[in-house]
Amino acid sequence: MTNKPFDFNALLHESVRIHGHLCAGQVLGVRMSMLGLREIGISDPKGTDRKSLIVYVEMDRCATDAVQSVTGCSLGHRTMKFMDYGKMAATFLNTKTGKAMRLVAREDSRDKAKERFPESENKYAGQLEAYKVMSDEELFDAMEVVVKVRPEDLPGRPMRRVQCDSCGEHVQDMREVYQDGKVLCVACAGGGYYTAVDSKFNIQNSNCAVRYAEKS
Ligand SMILES: [Zn+2]
Ligand SMILES: [Zn+2]
Repeated sequence: MTNKPFDFNALLHESVRIHGHLCAGQVLGVRMSMLGLREIGISDPKGTDRKSLIVYVEMDRCATDAVQSVTGCSLGHRTMKFMDYGKMAATFLNTKTGKAMRLVAREDSRDKAKERFPESENKYAGQLEAYKVMSDEELFDAMEVVVKVRPEDLPGRPMRRVQCDSCGEHVQDMREVYQDGKVLCVACAGGGYYTAVDSKFNIQNSNCAVRYAEKS
């Protein structure tokens, strides 16, 4: 592990490229990631440390893309976990040492940012510039935490694969639900985000409550 400092401007440039625009969220997300990685002793997140890192993000906003860009963590690699808390917060976990740091954007940093650059053309431009120069302590609350990663949430091959008794679709990584003696997927167990209105092709199982709920 080296102490090579992160290059803020290069990281911001890359996250803006991936995200599609420069915004206060990119600045905040890059700053948050640099601090989080540093606190858990990760200096090369996309290289030698790439298998030692999991990030839990508590928001699906602009800053999340910056966290992904800087850390290299993603849903697809199972190294980014989306916790739908609606908070501008993230936890950086070193899976080798177990050290985990949760960072929360401070609410008063918005006002402090406005005070820093009162002459800016609009408050967002001022906020963006201020987030570049404010101290870590002004931007974030930091707390060391303990995170228990369940085996079924770790990167690697799926642990288990079972078929839903209702819709017939397969569920992996122990996301199935046991209800009234049946093995169900989350959707069939009542937690679905969708309601199918028609079957397009290959759907033969009329046993599916979710898919045909609207029709009956
Ligand atoms: Zn944005
Ligand atoms: Zn199902």
